[in-house]
Amino acid sequence: MKLYIQYMYSYPHKTAYRPLKGVYLRDYASVLAGKGHGLYLHIPFCQSKCGYCNLFSVTGLGQEAADRYLTAVERQSSQYQEILTSVGTEFSELVIGGGTPLYLTVQQLERMFHIVTCYFRFSENRSLVVETAPNQTTREKLELLKQAGVSRISMGIQSFSDKELSVLGRQHNAEKARQAFALIKTYDFPCVNVDFIYGIPGQTAASLLESLKEALQFEPEEIFLYPLYVKHGARMEREGVVLEPETAFAQYQAASSFLRGNGYRQDSMRRFVRQTTARAFSECGFGTSIGLGCGGRSYLGKLHFCSPYAITRSDCLARLKDYENTADFMEITHGIILSEEEIKRRYVIRHLLIRPGLELERYQELFGEDVLDAFSLLRAWIEQGYAVLEENGFLSLTEAGLGVSDYLGPQLISPAVDQAMHEWEVIHGQTHDTVSRKP
Ligand code: SF4
Repeated sequence: MKLYIQYMYSYPHKTAYRPLKGVYLRDYASVLAGKGHGLYLHIPFCQSKCGYCNLFSVTGLGQEAADRYLTAVERQSSQYQEILTSVGTEFSELVIGGGTPLYLTVQQLERMFHIVTCYFRFSENRSLVVETAPNQTTREKLELLKQAGVSRISMGIQSFSDKELSVLGRQHNAEKARQAFALIKTYDFPCVNVDFIYGIPGQTAASLLESLKEALQFEPEEIFLYPLYVKHGARMEREGVVLEPETAFAQYQAASSFLRGNGYRQDSMRRFVRQTTARAFSECGFGTSIGLGCGGRSYLGKLHFCSPYAITRSDCLARLKDYENTADFMEITHGIILSEEEIKRRYVIRHLLIRPGLELERYQELFGEDVLDAFSLLRAWIEQGYAVLEENGFLSLTEAGLGVSDYLGPQLISPAVDQAMHEWEVIHGQTHDTVSRKP
């Protein structure tokens, strides 16, 4: 079994998106009517590029670049505002991700919050999520986040071993991560999340547990454990680093069992939540979300869109320039329009891979069919012990199933999306990682 095929955090993957013609935001505005939508703001700047990363982020640009970027975000926001006001959109969530959002100066962060609050309407109890990194986590910036009402702050620590951090090419060292973590904790944010990576060359199960033990001293509400995917175009790919599956899986087993034994509930292969935090079920398959900025994705019913997937620095810079020069954000030029079949697949993927899982009756109600008949694979997973029908009517992954989510999830990709992703991979010279998703 190929354990680490792909992380299915969304579906379909951006590599299945293609140029679109004659698609306009106003034609999809009705799905944004009323309450309960998400707003995502992408800040694509980082101090330096991590060795495994191919996310949309650029390094080495000065403050003027960030100023120009915010000007474009403001233009996009004001154009979106017109449409959103006409359908009475109220957002219940704002996520500011990157890149490294706190790479912006305090003044730029103030301007960023001013833009979102000026052009968009939020519910009173909206959640506000911000990503940060240890080197950019300062007292002044945290003050600002606190004033803005941040409800969840997420920091990529990845390891408390300087050796492992240097293999990853992270910007910070362990001491800086400790200081930033301690500083964050003094601000009493409702949820603090930290990310760690396993499968790092030279890492052992013991060194991973050492990092996690240290993290637990800070009592974070959530811990995410990510296997080291060396992404296409990343520096570590050029160096020939690949994830060693058996070692990574042994580390995952040790770490997940350690966290479960220390008061954390496992909600997915990656997400561990402190038991004192209630699990909120949300029907995520249909969530509508608008992306602001370059590289941010929007999900409007069957229309998903974003700027074309960029990996190399030169492609990212070109997209950034295109974004800054965009005069009209109303025309959607790149994305995918999902068929009914893809919408069903998305629904199954988005629910099954995270607990409490997929509610069978709800699926029947939405799509008029039995999900176990529609996806015979699910019956096989029950027989193989990867999934279980719970008494409450949910189909959930078992502990064994959660551990192999990056094998199971990709099996649910449709042949059409698989083909589109494969074409992209061939054109862009990707020879491993997501190629050959099937077992
Ligand atoms: S992993 Fe995060 S911090 Fe590192 S380069 Fe990528 S976006 Fe920036």
